[in-house]
Amino acid sequence: MVQDGISAEDLFSKPTGVTYKDFLILPGYIDFSPDDVDLTTRVTREISIKIPIVSSPMDTVTESKMAIALALKGGIGIIHSNNTIEEQVNEVEKVKRFENGFILDPICLSPKHRISDVDAIKQKYGFSGIPITEDGTLRSKLLGIVTNRDIDFEKDRSRYLEEVMTTDLVTAPEGVSLSEANKILRESKKGKLPIVDKQGRLVSLMSRTDLKKNKDYPNASKDDRKRLRVGAAVSTHPHDRERIDALIEAHTDILVIDSAQGYSVWQINLIKELKKKYPDQQIMAGNVVTKEQAIALIEAGADALRIGMGPGSICITQDTMACGRAQATAVYHTASVAKKYGVPVVADGGIANMGDIAKALAIGASTVMMGSLLAGTQESPGEYIYKDGVRLKKYRGMASLEAMKEGGAKRYFADDQKIRVAQGVSGTVIDKGSVFDFVPYLIQGVKHAFQDMGVRSIPELHEKLYNKKLRFEPRSLAAQLQGGVHNLYSYQKPIIGAE
Ligand code: GDP
Ligand code: GDP
Ligand code: 5GP
Repeated sequence: MVQDGISAEDLFSKPTGVTYKDFLILPGYIDFSPDDVDLTTRVTREISIKIPIVSSPMDTVTESKMAIALALKGGIGIIHSNNTIEEQVNEVEKVKRFENGFILDPICLSPKHRISDVDAIKQKYGFSGIPITEDGTLRSKLLGIVTNRDIDFEKDRSRYLEEVMTTDLVTAPEGVSLSEANKILRESKKGKLPIVDKQGRLVSLMSRTDLKKNKDYPNASKDDRKRLRVGAAVSTHPHDRERIDALIEAHTDILVIDSAQGYSVWQINLIKELKKKYPDQQIMAGNVVTKEQAIALIEAGADALRIGMGPGSICITQDTMACGRAQATAVYHTASVAKKYGVPVVADGGIANMGDIAKALAIGASTVMMGSLLAGTQESPGEYIYKDGVRLKKYRGMASLEAMKEGGAKRYFADDQKIRVAQGVSGTVIDKGSVFDFVPYLIQGVKHAFQDMGVRSIPELHEKLYNKKLRFEPRSLAAQLQGGVHNLYSYQKPIIGAE
């Protein structure tokens, strides 16, 4: 067989570091359409998602709004920790409570609570369908239900719930299957279906909106209780132990140990401690860029590794700290050792367009983590601003002076130091519309890339990578210039894809 180009092993064995821009993948044979490409992948040892996209734990990228949108579309968001424990847990809870099968811990009130108590729940969690039980807790006798429709025109918010609740309830018995319960819910035409035991005590709740959400988002990333999946960042500092316990209590799917240089005694000890205390908790460790670092964190118990030191768009680590690695080289070498342990890696930072997503996957990453590409969407935190007639949103490094002032220094070991050295900058990025449109656009691009490479899935891509059937070509500076737009007097840039 004639073989052109070079293998990844040859590409990455050069002494010089390689970035995404430095190489291309040679095309394969196409006998299928982009729609036949399946991008299902593992984000940790135990958690699979339908699209390989993870959002960065940064305070201008991921709070509940981003995490909900991404999880509905098949990815996962990591809630940043530049906030109080209560604030971070609250963001996680908003995601976990967004979509449900059986809601096993519905918020209940008693007949002697007031409409204003429902208002407070609505304000905090966004829903207002509240079962009313004898003493206001689960496993207590169900007396009625209050929903929006019972209270929306009531001016006196101090009225007792017993005066406004609906009491002729359609319920289902404990032990009912999810599909039977869905049928009862559909046929009852009610918004909520309380599930009760033989004594009439409330055991769980179902919501009609979940039937709809399930239908609208077939790729959503969900846990075994049909709640959306979410991750949360934590630091290795002792004072974050309380945060970790609270996040696990709130059912955070992936704890992300957020450190710019993850090969430390603190991180290794934390992983071991967590794996002992919470053996089932999925832990993403990092950041690492060398084989030695990767093996150490995996042997401590990590379920996924976050790869990258210095490639981020807001990042000045390589200039200030002298350490780091070219991102493609880092991804290839860490992924190739992590694979031997069955641990997936996340390529974190430096993703500038959809071609980079496909390239990161092609050199061994199972998912990509993105900050700047997702900042500037409607779902990222912060308001739009206008400059020179262009709609922008703020985007800043978590180790920028600005973010450190608000607590982001934890990641960068500078917490207890008097003089703080910034490892990031703050700036702005252009409006990218909604994640609900932008992510499908990115994913369609990645599917086209897979079609061009002649592979239908990420496992197939990785198989071809490691058996050297996937061929690469280094790109000279002239080749890079030729690959970009050139010789035009003017042109219109797409949102992403051309620089
Ligand atoms: P409501 O009519 O105001 O209660 O709100 P919706 O029915 O539109 O939405 C409720 C959403 O919140 C559903 O997706 C539920 O699964 C979810 N949810 C999560 N936890 C709870 C809870 O404790 N009570 C209620 N009512 N909904 C919850
Ligand atoms: P929405 O959130 O305002 O759309 O309200 P729902 O559709 O949840 O509820 C509409 C009405 O039905 C309200 O008066 C509720 O109290 C009542 N309701 C909600 N769930 C049930 C139920 O399971 N059985 C009965 N009989 N009524 C219910
Ligand atoms: P981007 O997608 O914008 O290229 O990179 C996002 C990644 O940059 C984040 O996931 C995180 O790993 C990294 N990052 C975030 N803030 C900072 C910072 O202030 N300094 C450095 N060095 N990296 C950062």
